[in-house]
Parts: sequence; C-alpha cells; structure tokens
Amino acid sequence: MVRVRFAPSPTGYLHVGGARTALFNYLFARHHGGKFILRIEDTDIARSEKIFEENLMKTLRWLGLNWDEGPDIGGPFGPYRQSERLHIYREYAQKLVSLGKAYEVYAYPEEIEKIREQLLSQDEAPHYTRELFESFATSERKKEYEQKGLKPAIYFSMPRKTIIHEDLVKGTVVFSEGSVGDFAILRSNGVPTYNFACVVDDMLMQITHVIRGDDHLPNTVKQLAMYEAFGTTPPRIGHVSTILGPDGKKLSKRHGATSIEEFKAQGYLPEAVVNYLALLGWSSPDAKEIMPMDEMIAKFSIDRLSKNPAIFDPVKLNWMNGHYIRTIDQEQLIQLISPFLKDWNFVPKNSKWLMEVLQVVKDRMHTLKDFQIIADFFFIRPKVRVSVDQSVKEALMACSEKLESSSDCDKNCIVDLIRSVVKGRKLNAKEFYTTLRYLLTGKNEGPELVDVVYLLGTNETAARIKVGLEG
Ligand code: GLU
Repeated sequence: MVRVRFAPSPTGYLHVGGARTALFNYLFARHHGGKFILRIEDTDIARSEKIFEENLMKTLRWLGLNWDEGPDIGGPFGPYRQSERLHIYREYAQKLVSLGKAYEVYAYPEEIEKIREQLLSQDEAPHYTRELFESFATSERKKEYEQKGLKPAIYFSMPRKTIIHEDLVKGTVVFSEGSVGDFAILRSNGVPTYNFACVVDDMLMQITHVIRGDDHLPNTVKQLAMYEAFGTTPPRIGHVSTILGPDGKKLSKRHGATSIEEFKAQGYLPEAVVNYLALLGWSSPDAKEIMPMDEMIAKFSIDRLSKNPAIFDPVKLNWMNGHYIRTIDQEQLIQLISPFLKDWNFVPKNSKWLMEVLQVVKDRMHTLKDFQIIADFFFIRPKVRVSVDQSVKEALMACSEKLESSSDCDKNCIVDLIRSVVKGRKLNAKEFYTTLRYLLTGKNEGPELVDVVYLLGTNETAARIKVGLEG
C-alpha cells in the first residue's frame, strides 16, 4: 500500500512550496488509495513553536488536505511528533553503532569546528572521518562527560563510494565518491539531526514514496547510505522543482504573499489555491487547468511532475480564484465571505439578499476582498453630493418621489418607473443615468442599475437621491 508523508518543521507558517509538497503527496496517496501521514519534524527545539504546528494543521485542513495518521489523531506508527520519539532515535543510533556503521564522538562542538577549519585551511574538503575524532575519546574525557551528564554525539560513517539515486522526478542522479563526509546523527543532548530522524521515521512508518522539494536533494545521498546501513530498501524518492517568482528569482516575500495564511486573509478560496498549487510543477494529461480536487486525484501521477522550475504567477491565481468565486456553491461562498463582512462591518439584510448581492457583483471579483470595494455601497450609504443640470435634477427628484411611494416594486416595475420619468422630458439621458448611479453607489461603474435599486430597496434609493442632490 502507498504510504506517503508530509513532514513540516513547525518553524513558520505554511508557504506555497510546503503546501504544494503536501498537496502532491496527498494527491498521490488518494490516487492510489493509500495513506497520507502528517509528521511534525520539531527537533529544532530553538525554532519550533507549538503555535506554528497548530497553524500548519489548521491551514492544511483549510486546503482540504486531511491526513490519515498524525500527531492529533494518532495512528499505528505513532507518535507522529519527532520530539516525542527521541528514545527511538537513540535506540536506532545505537543499532548503527553496534553494526559498526556509526561511532561515538567525544569532541566538543568547538573542537569539531576547529577540525573543520583546519581541513579547510589545508585546502581539503571539510569531511569528517572516524580517525579525526579518535584522539578525543580518552578515558579522562569519558569521565568528564559522565560527570557532566553528557552523552557522546553519534556520527554516521559515510561509505566512500559512488551512490546512484533514481529520482522519481529528476531521473538518475549520481553522487560521486567522496562528495560527503561523516556526519552527526545524534547530538550529545540526544536530539537527532534531520537526516537521521527522517530515515528512522520513514523506515518505521513504512513510507513507500517521498515527494519533497529539490532543496533536499543533497540530503538524499546521506539518507540512502543510512537505509543501506540499516539493511532496508529506501522509499522511492522524487524531488519537485523549485518555485520561482514572475521575475525568475526564487519565490520569496519580495514577490508578495507567499504563506497560505496570507492568501486566505486576502480572500482566496481554498479550492482555487489548491487547484493553482497543483499546476506549479504538475500538469494534467489533457492540459486542463480548472480541476476540482476529485479530478486532480483521478488524474495525478508522479511522471507528470516537471523537472523544470515552476513560475508562480499571481495574475493566473487571481484569474483562477475569480473562476471559483463565480462557480462555487452560493452557500459555500456566503460561508467564506461572512468573516470578511464582519471585519468590514457590512451587515446584510438577510442571507437571500446577500446571495443576490453576490450574484450581481461576483463577475467583477478576483478575491473575496474585492467585494469590500465593489459592493460597499450595498451596506453603507456613500457620502456624495452632486450638482447637475436642472433638467436632470428635476428628473432625479421625480424619480425619488415615485420610488418613495412604490415600496412593492419588483425589477420590472423599477425599470418601468425609471423609464417613465425619463420619457417625455428634455434631458441628457446619459447624464441622468450616470448621476443616478453615482448617487446610489458613489461610483461610475458597477452592477446594472435596476439591480442596484432593487437590492437597495426603493426607500433607500429614494433617500440616497434626495440626500445627494440636496446637499
Ligand atoms: N522537515 C523537512 C522540511 O520541512 C522535511 C523534508 C522531507 O520531506 O524529508 O523540509
């Protein structure tokens, strides 16, 4: 059975790159009827924070990427938080030591750094070896460690040979002999390094495939060597390409919003974000772009992941978000926009009315936030004053009076009423209509006038005309 994992470090908010990794793993798992596992890699104690972990989970759920095993729901291979697995890493590090594949190091960090500097000053690659550390393991040093309650660090003995990796995305990658030296797997405080914890967990959690960002490619050689040391077959690993900004540089804060949280706050729909993320480095065989989750699951395959960097294009994301705003279920749209309305103090008359308002403005929206600018006048009377030609003013006043006494006017009735005012008068009809729109909305463009009047109600419309003209 396919078992994949998303393994974020809770050191920040979920970004575009991480969310895309999670999504590809999720699509792959669901496509194969496998399991999608959430593992929290919180061994960087100084930088990991609970709040980020909670936020990661909240954001993944918002995207609809629900996991089958994880720190909150447990599962047969738990715990799923690395900080709760320290005893496991120690046991497995000891296992490698007893197999002769890893060794204890009694050097202090400053001493290790010194070795590195020395190697570099001799123009040698800063590769550690067992021999370099041997002289530190004196009986005095061991006693000192014991007195201080310290444990020796454990280093993995990297085999000096060429390692070939068949990457699911990039194809054959050759790590030539001697490109990596020995490295720490367990620090003297008992905390494992990323590469080691990752291998132990992927092995014990029976992960079959790993899809991750290609910044991890240099780690793969170390991880493959450790699987071999344990005598286990590694999972199949694929590295997805980097995401670049529209200027061709690595996507970063300079390009605007990059965390999913920010996209949510700006009024992007989870359906649109997920759909857009999927296209950052993956394409459907039929080149279709708008695809709901089910369709992406059905069509997903690793062999359609691109080797080339993906370009994050905010214009396309906006276009896609606009599409989802226009097409998702009305009830769902109302649910998504409601928190925004609260923030803006926009109080709808009722939900049917809100639905109708959304109906007449949503074609112009790219994000939910656009609603604040496009549809504000439905909730707040605009502060406008106009001075117009006398003939237009008279017509508008007449219109206002008629509306005041026609409370049960439907859309047809509104059209007839306004027409009857304009008809037979000598006036510039265009000026009449643009002024009317401006008085009602404070804008020069927007939804059909009849819709505006209908949704504002005849009384409010009449009042707005009067106030705007009298001022
Ligand atoms: N914790 C690592 C990260 O957030 C996971 C890498 C991996 O998938 O192996 O980048």
